[in-house]
Amino acid sequence: MNAPEHVRAAASSMAPAVTSLDMIRRLVAFPTVSRDSNLALIEWVRDYLEGFGATTTLTFDDERRKANLFATLAARDGNATRGGVVLSGHTDVVPVDGQPWDTDPFQATLVGDRLHGRGVADMKSFSAIGLAFVPTFVERGLARPLHFALSYDEEVGCIGVRRLIADVRARGVAPTGCIIGEPTGMQLVVAHKGRRTWRCRVRGHEAHSSLTPRGVNAVQIACDIVAWIGGRAQALRDGHRQDAAYDVPYTTLHVGVIQGGTAVNIVPRDCSFEFEMRYLPLDDPDAFFSELRHFAESRVPAMQAVAPATFIEFDTLSSMTGFDGSNGNAMVDIARDCAQSPLLHKVSFGTEAALFDAASIPAVICGPGHIEQAHQPNEWVRLEQLARCEAFMERLARHLCAR
Ligand SMILES: [Zn+2]
Repeated sequence: MNAPEHVRAAASSMAPAVTSLDMIRRLVAFPTVSRDSNLALIEWVRDYLEGFGATTTLTFDDERRKANLFATLAARDGNATRGGVVLSGHTDVVPVDGQPWDTDPFQATLVGDRLHGRGVADMKSFSAIGLAFVPTFVERGLARPLHFALSYDEEVGCIGVRRLIADVRARGVAPTGCIIGEPTGMQLVVAHKGRRTWRCRVRGHEAHSSLTPRGVNAVQIACDIVAWIGGRAQALRDGHRQDAAYDVPYTTLHVGVIQGGTAVNIVPRDCSFEFEMRYLPLDDPDAFFSELRHFAESRVPAMQAVAPATFIEFDTLSSMTGFDGSNGNAMVDIARDCAQSPLLHKVSFGTEAALFDAASIPAVICGPGHIEQAHQPNEWVRLEQLARCEAFMERLARHLCAR
């Protein structure tokens, strides 16, 4: 194989194979930003896998602009549904608009011991290395099925994979479990927090700012509610309900967006803000939300005494359950062996793992690169991480091909 000079130079002890790098380059070159179609990538991967005898199913979004791919390499005895492992990755990436990139984000580029490109960490490298290992899996002969699950619209709320999972369930495919290759530094993650997001809308009453008692200041009331959320966040940080296995060991609350008012000399009529809770299994988002609502409602009589049309309303924007496999299951055992990771980790960011888990497909998260580099300009992954991912696949091949 004629590897380019810079690839051979990097081929030290902890460098990935050229086939893996080629596959990563190929996937990164499809500009699959969530708002755009991913069909070119999906069709290319489908054709590649069918070339190795895989059976494939596409599930589409309503406009048929995007698709999930579920592909199965059956075991030698023809078993395509019982046991085995799913390698799962989302195909979409976040936009690069307005970000200062030093290289073309859609050309994976070696810079020293790092590969730069949109999606190299989050999360095309894991899928690419799995795909690059397909010839190895097939040559050695699978004793159990191997599946690929490539989804669309993960970055905008884990939307696409729901259809893939429903289809897999409907067809009676029952894998031992699923490995989600989100960037964990190749550490084995077996739990993540749940997340809920809401919007609060405060309707006040406009008045000239020299006559504040005749108005209802929506910005002020919204800020009182924001302050209440801040106080609750501090209590959670200082409280006893903590789990040290998480990167942030307690439930967090956070206000990310606030909009209100039009001019400094007008008592503002409207203010809205959006906030989230990332919660441990120990904490109940419904209980938090009903207390918050109670606090907000206590403000309404005074508002309506000034102007009857005022109100405080809430909308739930999104809801993602957490999952926790730290008590162990067959998938955790396999992944623990493949990752050579004695410690089980827990993280605060959400993934598709919770959705697989809820559909009785136990999931773990393990992939190359780090979440700190995800969504950033000059997103990168170290070659050493890619080599670790290859070592993981090698051990997985031993497991899947063992008689
Ligand atoms: Zn991701």
